[in-house]
Amino acid sequence: MRSRYSAFVLGLTDYLLATWHISTRPVELLPDPHTQWKGLSIIKEAPDLQKTPSQADIGYIHFRAYFKERARWHRLEENSRFVFEQRRWWYIDGTPEVMRLKPRRNDPCFCGSSRKLKLCCKE
Ligand SMILES: [Zn+2]
Repeated sequence: MRSRYSAFVLGLTDYLLATWHISTRPVELLPDPHTQWKGLSIIKEAPDLQKTPSQADIGYIHFRAYFKERARWHRLEENSRFVFEQRRWWYIDGTPEVMRLKPRRNDPCFCGSSRKLKLCCKE
């Protein structure tokens, strides 16, 4: 899942498609040049993805990701569902909810740097 987030950040749509389960994979995926991903926090992972799962196990990851689009901050919150097949995890689907954020200049930056927003990630 974290590697998929990195792929989002870098616009690596091929990787996103390659980790998408065949049953739900879109035909194509176009990166949005106006979206800048800034931060990711994993709220919950189940089961513990360090353990070796069994064929057809289902995994869940609840995360929040922060992004900027045309100078406006947003938060994507999603519960993603994965299935373990052929000795790897595949993304099946999720429940994405996007919320527009209205931070103040002195709020901590969403990227996790612990700097103030006005001094960080201005672009
Ligand atoms: Zn920042």
